[in-house]
Amino acid sequence: MKSLQEDIRNIISASHPIVYIQTDEELEVLKIISEEANEYLLFSYDEIYGIRWLNEKSFKSNKKVFLRVKNQIESLKSDFLETLFFIRDIAQFEKTILVILSADTLMKEENPQSQKNVRFIKNLINEIKGEKGENLASDTDNEDSLMLSIFLISDKLLIPSLLEKDMFVFETDYPTRKEIGEILNKFLEEHKLAISDELKIEFVSALQGLTRSEVDNLLFLALINDSVLDDKDVDFFIDYKKQIVKKNAIIEYVDVRKYSTDIGGLKNLKQWLEKKKNIFKNLDRAIECGVDIPKGVLLFGMPGCGKSLAAKYTAKLMGLPLLRLDMGRIMGPYLGQSEENLRKAIRIAESIAPSILWIDEIEKALAGVKGGNSDTVVRIFGTLLTWMQEKEKPVFVIATANDISGIPPEFLRKGRFDETFFVDFPDKESIKEILKIHLKKRGKEKYLSNIDFEKVVKAMEEGYAGADIEAIVSEVVERVFLEGREEITTEDILKVIKEGIVKPISQTLKEKIEELRSTYKNLSAQPAN
Ligand code: ATP
Repeated sequence: MKSLQEDIRNIISASHPIVYIQTDEELEVLKIISEEANEYLLFSYDEIYGIRWLNEKSFKSNKKVFLRVKNQIESLKSDFLETLFFIRDIAQFEKTILVILSADTLMKEENPQSQKNVRFIKNLINEIKGEKGENLASDTDNEDSLMLSIFLISDKLLIPSLLEKDMFVFETDYPTRKEIGEILNKFLEEHKLAISDELKIEFVSALQGLTRSEVDNLLFLALINDSVLDDKDVDFFIDYKKQIVKKNAIIEYVDVRKYSTDIGGLKNLKQWLEKKKNIFKNLDRAIECGVDIPKGVLLFGMPGCGKSLAAKYTAKLMGLPLLRLDMGRIMGPYLGQSEENLRKAIRIAESIAPSILWIDEIEKALAGVKGGNSDTVVRIFGTLLTWMQEKEKPVFVIATANDISGIPPEFLRKGRFDETFFVDFPDKESIKEILKIHLKKRGKEKYLSNIDFEKVVKAMEEGYAGADIEAIVSEVVERVFLEGREEITTEDILKVIKEGIVKPISQTLKEKIEELRSTYKNLSAQPAN
């Protein structure tokens, strides 16, 4: 992958009459153009400062050009059309680049002044191409054409139809891992610092999805915070990325550091995730070795059995930011709104990649749609599938679902995701693990010491969800506390089970569970456990 500097160098040397650069990094782009365009007279225009000569210094020794430009530019006002006249004049005798900042605001089609601006730019393009208005067909000899390239820069893409045909469009990408590594190395060198290779890799991952200047600024802030760069700064970078997500209503940043993500059972799933973790941890090397970047996993199955927990567990395991996309929230009433919302969410996930996009309860996309066959649903899943197939950024998707009956079958087919897992009620061994996890969470080791887990598990039918087991533990711990005791016994747990205070989901939702099980039958999926 080429760096931004190389891309801009190529664009400049291709001498396009007009180029549109869509970017969130105006300053960085301007800086690179300044570095790469030293053979040109280089000007920028924006509505506040008007015209500025960016490389005035390099032309000081060329007295003839310097004085001519200097005299003319000083008499200019900040008027845009006047600027274009000036540029036209200059570009007749010197190679010139004009960079127009916030270009979209100068060219909004509904505004009469903007229409004039656009018309003038179109005339300039014709002149650059040697096609003067008066003799369009005859003389294409470039002798008196303008030596001009116009660069339009904006964070939005808005191209007036009159200019569409001539426009070369370029969208800047967020820096690649390699570029971030280079920025980091340069920063370390400048500040005479050294960090381990492992920490460098963690820094690069944590800084991915930020602009070049953000990377630079954050490194600087991290350093002045406590005069060192260490693993604490990884959190600092991630927190910053979290703020970006917070500004968005569709997607939520889940801070997994706040959760206990110990998960009982689901051993097949855990083993599989462990392998994927090793790829994400060594992403650069894995890509070099031709390993496919993991696409994602679909988890479907019984309610309360750890699908959401598995998403959080994965984020912690892989050390990646977790973004939760609530399918219900992206559905909008207007045509195209839901897909646009989905695209927006995808853009955010990509901007902070490597990341995990957790699409929670995918069946909610079907809410209110009978038979699940509406156009919107098909388009939503279509958008998602196309993205998943084509995505290059390391965004690992975890889709979770209970009721998959209305979901378009092509979405569930094997191969869409790297793997599909079916999460069933925990077996006896898993029940034991889940009991231990929740007892330990509430009382550290002290609640575990007096319990005969074999006996407890024997007394429990399968059909308890993880959430039910947690509810049993919660009830037991409360009772023991109210009785003023410090320790929990086997009898305490057996009593709560026998009393039936916590009814297993498999019984309370018996019909629903049977219905779910019959829809699951037709799908080929790995058992998560
Ligand atoms: P739903 O489909 O209803 O959203 P889910 O499968 O996503 O359910 P979770 O939300 O992950 O289930 O589980 C609810 C709670 O139950 C978890 O927060 C956790 O405390 C407990 N739990 C469920 N399964 C497990 C498990 N395998 N290990 C430990 N705790 C579990």
